[in-house]
Amino acid sequence: MKIDKLLKRYRIEHGKHFRLKDHDPADTHGLGSETKPQAKELLANGVKELSRLQDILAAQDRWGLLLIFQAMDAAGKDGTIKHVMSGVNPQGVQVSSFKAPSAEELGHGYLWRCMECVPGRGRIGIFNRSYYEEVLVVRLHPLLLESQKLPRALVTKHIWQERFEDINNFEHYLARNGIAVVKFFLHLSKHEQKRRFLARLDTPAKNWKFSVFDVKERQFWNEYQEAYEDMIRHTAREHAPWYVVPADNKWFTRLVVSQAVVDALKGMNLTYPKVTGAEQAALTQARQQLENE
Ligand code: ATP
Ligand code: MG
Repeated sequence: MKIDKLLKRYRIEHGKHFRLKDHDPADTHGLGSETKPQAKELLANGVKELSRLQDILAAQDRWGLLLIFQAMDAAGKDGTIKHVMSGVNPQGVQVSSFKAPSAEELGHGYLWRCMECVPGRGRIGIFNRSYYEEVLVVRLHPLLLESQKLPRALVTKHIWQERFEDINNFEHYLARNGIAVVKFFLHLSKHEQKRRFLARLDTPAKNWKFSVFDVKERQFWNEYQEAYEDMIRHTAREHAPWYVVPADNKWFTRLVVSQAVVDALKGMNLTYPKVTGAEQAALTQARQQLENE
């Protein structure tokens, strides 16, 4: 399978003509269930490759990688993060989940709480939801915007466009500092969401995952889809692409995400730091010292 082709199909770098309806949540790139074992092997290889690259990322200590996950409820953010990152060294990864903001967080600009969670050099950071909620859930619920205590004069009909600009500038700043940003929208169908909600209700071990709020948000399905589309149109960039990942089949979601993360790391041309002449001499001396003990 041509991985480049696979990724290209789902990667959005220029959003101007993006339409969500051109993307099928059930798409599997023509891979049927008979190729599932092959896909599993690819996923396993992707996880291994990720672990190898992360080691070099940490050793080189120049680049960082921020992975952002956005999706409707039950699209599989948690499971994808768990599977894709399963092989990496926990010391090199951090996961931050962004829920409804606290009172303290509401007392600051909306990027504030996210900024301190951005990974440093040599590290991979994962945002499970992010500042993109500011142009999604907040856009659909006027009360949430009101709770942000913005000066009235600053809340105009341009506010979403302004937020897109601020987010673009922030991500550009990160990219220019060597912190690469890759964004994933796990694109689930309404039908599959219902199936997964019902499974959560039917299976006692999954009951805890179910929230009545999720069913409430589901009523805004179309508005969410429009907000997601508008968000991707305005914030897809070459240096901070969106992947619109079909999410109706979990095995396929995981495959695409793992390959996209590997691709992002490969793009950094990572190498282990070279030991200089003087350092080499020090190593030789250390070896002699150990051997002479
Ligand atoms: P799970 O898979 O466990 O349901 P989750 O990411 O949906 O994971 P929840 O605790 O259910 O976690 O939900 C977090 C909620 O917080 C989401 O409904 C999200 O829209 C909301 N949220 C996140 N950021 C903001 C924000 N800036 N303002 C308001 N609500 C937000
Ligand atoms: Mg939830």
